[in-house]
Amino acid sequence: MDPTLDSKLVSEPVEAEKGKKRVQSPPSSPSYGLVSFKELPEYMKDNEFILNYYRANWPLKEALFSIFRWHNETLNVWTHLLGFVLFLGLTMANLIEVPQVSDLIAFLTSSFPISGDSNVSQDPLLGTTTNLVDLKQITASEPDVSPVTRWPFYVFLAGSMFCLLSSSICHLFSCHSHHLNLSLLRLDYAGITTMIITSFFPPIYYIFQCDPQWHFIYLGGITVLGLFTIVTLLSPALSTKKFRAFRAMLFSSMGLFGIIPGVHAMIVNWSNPRRNITLAYESAMAIFYLTGTLFYVSRVPERFKPGWFDLTGHSHQIFHVLVVMGALAHYGASLVFLDWRDHHGC
Ligand SMILES: [Zn+2]
Repeated sequence: MDPTLDSKLVSEPVEAEKGKKRVQSPPSSPSYGLVSFKELPEYMKDNEFILNYYRANWPLKEALFSIFRWHNETLNVWTHLLGFVLFLGLTMANLIEVPQVSDLIAFLTSSFPISGDSNVSQDPLLGTTTNLVDLKQITASEPDVSPVTRWPFYVFLAGSMFCLLSSSICHLFSCHSHHLNLSLLRLDYAGITTMIITSFFPPIYYIFQCDPQWHFIYLGGITVLGLFTIVTLLSPALSTKKFRAFRAMLFSSMGLFGIIPGVHAMIVNWSNPRRNITLAYESAMAIFYLTGTLFYVSRVPERFKPGWFDLTGHSHQIFHVLVVMGALAHYGASLVFLDWRDHHGC
């Protein structure tokens, strides 16, 4: 955004080295300079509205430590890295509430009965303590109701963490080489697909808990759609900028698949008092994701002022923040589903 800073950061090393690596520089000086869009190798030319501050063909070590340097991927890395740390914290906060080792072992071996002392969960969004279920009270008044299994909730948390971490790794290291760039883009797309698939687990599992045939239909359907997406995006050509809208369309169609079980769930739960709160959370999630996708495809705002948003405020950073917010909204909805199922058996 500042032309003076721009020329210092970009032109100086580039003019001195003509875009090539300074191989025998003293260890104290920065070995690799940032380059402009025009100087990029063809495989890195993705967004022509971001003009400067690119890293190109950097060794892995330099790329790793560039997490602490300013370039046009710094905030792309940090937005999803902090999102990953946030979801890791949420996962730990939920797991740590399990006081008995047997519960943890049961979780690791796929079933996850929750004990009476494990039901208090911190709600990090509100900063309050939510009493998800008081088992002792339930066992006294409703002997048939037992706390619901947690594994679909943790599948979603794991999928979100995988997506956020693989995205950070992709943005940090994809400047290394064409080969690694392609592999990391595939990892990034696999991460997005995994997050979409795993997001379906808490709502589908808990809403249709009493009609398990819908688990197979809906969770099977989204898994097949997800695998198709991953296999399709393995083709290197589909990772190029030409297919940005196609990729967005594939991911959006996976998300829109959720409309079918969503409408179904609304019909069967019309009189459920929690309907409005879960609808509010899930609508917020949909708005965050769809708005994020619009930024991703349209490359607003940088297309209106190329070069102004190179370091901060470009579309991909906005997209990243909206993805984390969408996942947080879905986390909120999942807590409501858990609370409801802990109180209402089949
Ligand atoms: Zn990204």
